[in-house]
Amino acid sequence: MPHSTEILRSIFDSSVVGVICTDAIGTVTVFSPAAEQIFGYSAHDIIGRNVAVLMPDPDRGQHRKYMARYLDTGVSTFIGSGRETMGLRSDGTSVPIFLSLSEFQIDGQRMFTGIVSDRTSEAADRKRLVDSEERFQQLASNIDEVFILRTTAPYRYLYISPAVEKIFGLTAEAAIADPALFFSFTHPDDVEFVRKTMLDAQHESSLEVEYRIVRTDGETRWVWTRYKHVETSSGGQELLAIVVSDVTERRLAKEREVLARQEAERANAAKTEFLSRMSHELRTPLNAILGFAQLLELDELAPGQHESLAQISKAGRHLLQLINEVLDIARIDAGHLSLSLEPVRIAEVIHETIGLVQPLVDARALTIIPPGEGCESYYVLADRHRVSQALLNLLSNAIKYNSDRGRIEVSCGLQLDGMTSITVADTGIGIGQVDLDRVFVPFDRLGLDRSDIEGAGIGLALSNSLVKAMHGRIEVQSDPGVGSRFTIVLPSVERALDEDPDPSRDGSPVESPGAEAQRSALRKLVVVYVEDNPANMRLMESVVARCPGVELVQAQQGRRGLELIESRRPHLIMLDLHLPDISGEEMLRKLRREPTTADTPILMVSADASPGRAQRLLDLGASAYLTKPVDIAEVLDWFKRLQSEPTDGLP
Ligand code: ADP
Repeated sequence: MPHSTEILRSIFDSSVVGVICTDAIGTVTVFSPAAEQIFGYSAHDIIGRNVAVLMPDPDRGQHRKYMARYLDTGVSTFIGSGRETMGLRSDGTSVPIFLSLSEFQIDGQRMFTGIVSDRTSEAADRKRLVDSEERFQQLASNIDEVFILRTTAPYRYLYISPAVEKIFGLTAEAAIADPALFFSFTHPDDVEFVRKTMLDAQHESSLEVEYRIVRTDGETRWVWTRYKHVETSSGGQELLAIVVSDVTERRLAKEREVLARQEAERANAAKTEFLSRMSHELRTPLNAILGFAQLLELDELAPGQHESLAQISKAGRHLLQLINEVLDIARIDAGHLSLSLEPVRIAEVIHETIGLVQPLVDARALTIIPPGEGCESYYVLADRHRVSQALLNLLSNAIKYNSDRGRIEVSCGLQLDGMTSITVADTGIGIGQVDLDRVFVPFDRLGLDRSDIEGAGIGLALSNSLVKAMHGRIEVQSDPGVGSRFTIVLPSVERALDEDPDPSRDGSPVESPGAEAQRSALRKLVVVYVEDNPANMRLMESVVARCPGVELVQAQQGRRGLELIESRRPHLIMLDLHLPDISGEEMLRKLRREPTTADTPILMVSADASPGRAQRLLDLGASAYLTKPVDIAEVLDWFKRLQSEPTDGLP
């Protein structure tokens, strides 16, 4: 068993706690190895010196006075207790220490012992904590969002960041003091919504809600709030972390944007409405101009008059095309263009369209090269009528802007992205690189406004919009003086299953041998025409005047028309759509319901050429839809057909 002095010695030597003993005036008598470690002095260096050397200023200066007072009065705040303080190391640096002082007597001598432990790592921890707290405070006070931490049951706020003052006009202290205060800021109109949202989401781990608050100064603001349940590391009380952000500016900007969009949509709708009305108004007089020109063409004319008439018709048709194109662009802009997308055999559309422009090609002595056999197998998903309209425009341009005796080559192909292309390449004047960007801008003729080549500059704009509406695009390449290549690219599609693979087969019924004889026996035909426009009525009078056996019964109003139809039992009814009292469409419905007129042919006549409207009227039982200006040949065709029908049961 070791001697107790040895045991004490070992503890003294191996302890991490330093022991320093001094006499009454502070001279160091004992300096343990741990004290050497803490202060960087060896016991040899320090024993015999005053303990004040181990103290940094201001403690060092004070020490002697404290000791004198203590020895005098016996009063000390240090002796017999411990405290955090600083020590001075031999290299002049400070070291955080915990020091506890006690006093004892040996042989009547007063001795003092200081037990010292190094607090460097605790001080570092404490500093880290303080720093982190400081950073958090900086963050919380500089961020515009409010951070809130609260318990769920009982309902109590643990922390509310200072931004609460900016958003709600309320101090964090006031908000913490009254847990119900926050909710009372909710705008009265949003209270129910917020309550319900929170109730619905009470079992969700997080929730976001946007609502209005009324600040303490009475101002209404929009706030976005996110609630999130927080798992505490100790697994104790459940907490809710809440972030509140003022989103008023964003909300207002969004509202402004919606209003601006609605305004733009309203303006666009007004533009379309205006264009549609204008085109209707323009087409009515045009109807008369073109109609009477067609009638005159049937007459014997003096030499030169045919040429003048041809000019009138040509200008009239040009104007009509322009009106229709402007109307189409407006419809596409407003999203009102109705398209019937179906598999379209492009070889068919190309051959038909080339057929339409062939006379113009011949007139200019151009050569047009149609696509090869390979094109037969290509199908696109598109509106057949609109593809041919766009292609017709490209071909017309290739003719107009070609050089004399130039060439036009039409080809098809597959694009890398799987789309199908139709290319029209010409050997014409071409387009300069700087102008290429503007080819699709309406009414921009790229400087050709004063040239002899006719045009209004909207053909390409319309074609481009049409192709885009069919989910395709038009690409252009051009070399001035060499030629241009315009390519329509449309989505490819497999051939329609129910389509006849041999389009050349004629499906029309074979005429019976007696048909011709029957036709020659023309019967009397009563036609009721309901039309409020005098010019159109006069045109029809002139048409009828040339048709022996046809009687025209006129009405300017729908109701009068119905009376006449009832009394005259006509063989053919022609209805204008826009009548002063009831609309042509309503008359059509009525007439189709009446047994006496359920089967009578009814031709609808209107300047409104929208395909959707035409289809609706055909679905309602119209026999045909004639667009003004009426094609007189079509009307004559109806007369001829009805006059040559068998006469059984007719008046
Ligand atoms: P328009 O032919 O009625 O002027 P478009 O919209 O069809 O209007 O064409 C716009 C412009 O693009 C034309 O005025 C012309 O300058 C140019 N352009 C179009 N097609 C060709 C072409 N094949 N070759 C040269 N220039 C062309």
